[in-house]
Amino acid sequence: MRHQPGVLIVEDESAIAELIAVNLRHSGFRPTWAMDSATAQRELDAVLPDVILLDWMLPGESGLLLAKRWRANPRTKDVPIIMLTARGDESDRVAGLDAGADDYIAKPFSTKELLARIRAVLRRRAPEQVSGVVSIGALSLDASTYRVSFNEQMLKLGPTEFKLLHYFMSHAERVHSRSQLLDKVWGDHVFIEERTVDVHVKRLREALGLIAGQMIETVRGAGYRLTAQSALASVPSPRV
Ligand code: CA
Repeated sequence: MRHQPGVLIVEDESAIAELIAVNLRHSGFRPTWAMDSATAQRELDAVLPDVILLDWMLPGESGLLLAKRWRANPRTKDVPIIMLTARGDESDRVAGLDAGADDYIAKPFSTKELLARIRAVLRRRAPEQVSGVVSIGALSLDASTYRVSFNEQMLKLGPTEFKLLHYFMSHAERVHSRSQLLDKVWGDHVFIEERTVDVHVKRLREALGLIAGQMIETVRGAGYRLTAQSALASVPSPRV
């Protein structure tokens, strides 16, 4: 039997929760609904979902606080979180991502877009291969031999660009803020300005070339992400 991914919807507006749940069910997901933070916590204690859709504005504890708490807890830290937010403000988006959300989607959203985001976070959760080879579309990186290729063509990358690409590919489809990238790629012991990230992303795109370079997207006001869904890169079916 096909695994039906479980989705925990944390949303106090029942009309919205209902709409999401119906659409998820039609698309082969197993939604559960929690209308407040206490119920959500009980649901999580009982069973871990594959994805959490977390509303920002909740009665009692906010979605932002919940995301922080779940990220800090070893049991729940790896469950992908997509924040649902009515806020379009840049600082709020960054706050959501810094709190550990994997992605966010602004209300009102199309259910088609929501499903695409859910599938994307599930795809990047697929277990990384033991060989150290990560492939996204036609782009392939071998961490053990330090090789990167696109469409079988070898590419030449500097050491920082290689580390950056490795991180992007291991966390594809997820939006990373500049400060997150500094922490993860440069390490948090070094003080570097955030625009250093921009410089290396630019170099990385150049090294990847015209087509593969487009897989590194600038997400305005939030940061960067590597996506298999860029117009020109080929998209294979997800590895599971
Ligand atoms: Ca709400």
